[in-house]
Amino acid sequence: MLIVTRPGVTAEEVDAIRERAEARGASTCVARQGPRAVIACLGEAVELDRSALAHPAIEAVLPLTTPYPLAARGLVPHAERAATVLPLGDDPRARLGGREVVVIAGPCSVENAAMLRETAHAVRRAGAGLLRGGAFKPRTSPYAFQGLGLAGLRLLAEVRRETGLPVVTEVMDPRLVEQVAEYADVLQVGARNMQNFPLLCEVGRVQRPVLLKRGWSATLKELLLAAEYVLARGNAAVILCERGIRGFDPAVRNTLDLAAIPLLHRETHLPVVVDPSHAAGRADLVLPLACAAVAAGVDGLLVEVHPDPAAARSDGEQSLPAAGFADFMRTLRPFVAAAGRTLAGPRPPSREAA
Ligand code: PEP
Ligand code: MN
Repeated sequence: MLIVTRPGVTAEEVDAIRERAEARGASTCVARQGPRAVIACLGEAVELDRSALAHPAIEAVLPLTTPYPLAARGLVPHAERAATVLPLGDDPRARLGGREVVVIAGPCSVENAAMLRETAHAVRRAGAGLLRGGAFKPRTSPYAFQGLGLAGLRLLAEVRRETGLPVVTEVMDPRLVEQVAEYADVLQVGARNMQNFPLLCEVGRVQRPVLLKRGWSATLKELLLAAEYVLARGNAAVILCERGIRGFDPAVRNTLDLAAIPLLHRETHLPVVVDPSHAAGRADLVLPLACAAVAAGVDGLLVEVHPDPAAARSDGEQSLPAAGFADFMRTLRPFVAAAGRTLAGPRPPSREAA
């Protein structure tokens, strides 16, 4: 069941209500929905009624009708139906879920300081809101480049200092979550780890937004339940990412599930991002897929960019050249405007790039 509080409820009142529910055998988790808090009471045969809980801050006690109460939208009658708007670092351009479509861009892998720096300055100038780059790479082959690890994290932090761009990077190992969180503004959980439950619990415990990528054979319900793991551990900042699901045609690396965007928006208040690079697997399809995602209402895009894609150590075939990224942004802009949203414009070079 769900306990919905009155607007303006305090943290102390929420704690008091949780204590009462837990004393009756429920395990509880809580999410803010606008000015109210929603407390989900879970467990076997939890039968609570309002009079048993008897707290003046309770507005309603509702049956639990969804398997992902914290991720679900519109559970609370009269509550704000707006999406969650997530700040993703100190830069005001890095906010997901609002009117602006945010572009996260950068190399698949952090390979060395020079390529990271060049890419970061190029994407920043073109209007990207965040820098992506993998330090720990999940590779299908154990012989492929696995990333620079800690050295890659340090490079990301250095380039963030120079450019002011918040950094998104992947964490694969639950034991490394705290360490990666020291360097990253947003923790990426990759498609291969969408149902790595110990990892989801661990990223749920830190106060960093989580970019959760859909597994290529995961249903939307499974994606939302994976997000629920993170939310239930206390981290309310989850971004869902559609990055293509496995189809039958090798002409594309994956099949971009465009319907996922409006379906997720209907189902959840969490922001939705599309990764056209991994969906397409080829650079020439990145722009058209990005435009289609914008038309379908996406909140952000995750795009791979490399200064010399032919020489990339991972995913070069799907990476836009750094020099071409400004064209990508320029062509995308009218589509974003037609969708009633805005896209950040070009920025002057940062001090270090000049
Ligand atoms: C990536 O973003 O570089 C990546 C490995 O993505 P995915 O987990 O979607 O394959
Ligand atoms: Mn990649």
